[in-house]
Amino acid sequence: MSTDTTVWNAEACAEVNERLAGASASEIADWAIETFGQKLIVAASMQDTILPHMFGTRLPGAHVLFLETGYHFKETIETRDEAARRFPITIVNALPAKTVEEQDAEFGKDLFARDPNLCCFMRKVDPLARSLAGYDAWVTGARRVDAVTRAEMPIVTWDEGHGLVKINPIAAWSDMDVEVYQVANQLPRNPLVAQGYPSIGCEPCTNKVAPGEDPRSGRWSGQEKTECGIHE
Ligand code: SF4
Repeated sequence: MSTDTTVWNAEACAEVNERLAGASASEIADWAIETFGQKLIVAASMQDTILPHMFGTRLPGAHVLFLETGYHFKETIETRDEAARRFPITIVNALPAKTVEEQDAEFGKDLFARDPNLCCFMRKVDPLARSLAGYDAWVTGARRVDAVTRAEMPIVTWDEGHGLVKINPIAAWSDMDVEVYQVANQLPRNPLVAQGYPSIGCEPCTNKVAPGEDPRSGRWSGQEKTECGIHE
């Protein structure tokens, strides 16, 4: 159990961020668990199973948050279920207030094609906010190489919007670091990555990407939207 008595705010996070600047992902995970114990939750998109492994093997029963939007590829759901079988984690499925059918009835079918920001708000942003209540920290698998908007992303930061600490242990990882960790730990993989989907979200809003293209260019293709809003 955590004995942390720090009053967490932007200054405290900035101090830790500086201290952990050169730390490895494993060292960051160790710090997070030592500091927050079961009061942290690990968000996982199930594009890979790195964080469920990294935290589940250190903190048995670690809570792993999955945004169950109702629009995922079946391969992503299968990856989540395989991670739950392989690692000692507790999956927390964050459900939107409305089912897809209820949303269709109120807003019309395929809202994602007409107003993806509203769809993402109802199916990702709002469920995330409700799910983080009661935790002191959340962990994400966001990396600086994911997008230009993430190039300066800190390792530890104060998430003002949600009122808790946000930890990005693999922020500095390259694609090669991801591959090395997956091979070394024989992790279950989302097969879509090898099929040309380097960045995987909901099925209607995720396209294949040609080799050499920006990995996130397959997300909300043809629209100005680049982020679902959960990292803002
Ligand atoms: Fe809706 Fe697309 Fe956002 Fe998923 S990614 S919540 S389908 S707009």
